[in-house]
Amino acid sequence: MSFSQKIAEQALLDSGRHCCLCHKFCGFKIELHHIVQKAEGGEDSYDNCIPLCFDCHAEVKAYNPKHPKGRKYTDSELRAHRNRWYEKTKNTYGPLANPDYIELDRKLFTQIREILKSKGVILFLREHDYGGSFDLESHDELEDFLHFCKAPEIEFLDIDMEGLRISLESDIRKFWIALGEYTFPLPVKRERNRIPRDPMQDLELVSWFQSKANSQEEFEELIAQQRKHIVEIRHKLNHLAQQVCSAYDEFVRLGRRKFVV
Ligand SMILES: [Zn+2]
Repeated sequence: MSFSQKIAEQALLDSGRHCCLCHKFCGFKIELHHIVQKAEGGEDSYDNCIPLCFDCHAEVKAYNPKHPKGRKYTDSELRAHRNRWYEKTKNTYGPLANPDYIELDRKLFTQIREILKSKGVILFLREHDYGGSFDLESHDELEDFLHFCKAPEIEFLDIDMEGLRISLESDIRKFWIALGEYTFPLPVKRERNRIPRDPMQDLELVSWFQSKANSQEEFEELIAQQRKHIVEIRHKLNHLAQQVCSAYDEFVRLGRRKFVV
């Protein structure tokens, strides 16, 4: 058995279909987790239910007491997170009729759009193919935005906007980390970066593969593997960049409708 239709609906309504841990808006990509597992006597009750996104659900479930790594979410902590979030969604719809609150959110929306302009880095991400090189500077706005989001007052009171802001921040962070991991400065122009070059253009790599390989066949195999790896990196960066653009578009569309700016 799992949660009844009635309990499931109530939990989805009360959370606004946001994850109760990371607060991202999930739409239909949401799951209802048993805080106390059924195997340990947990019930299919409203109080034992917490709506979570796929990522947070996997994280909550992945903890293995035999190989502890990090700190497990306790049952009471999960409940507290959930209650706090339910409280916030309940309060949002009331205060948001208050023009002062709308004004605060509108100001935040405008600030974020000043950092991430549609024609700045977002246009670059839309059009650039990460198979080619790029100026490091062209991504500064992403870093500015991540710094900006660290301040505690950077939080929309409107939960739909806050959910989209969190998704945007998380997509930008994923892209930013991948950019740092997979791209390198060009040897001649250090202010430009790119993913690794074709292995045959890289003399150091060629001689390293030659020293590792016992035959010409093995050498060619290593080169082929490296080429495949480069193609994967290129696709990954292009994909993550497009995710940032989609998150940005959703954020801007809803913000314009809500705040009429
Ligand atoms: Zn989550």
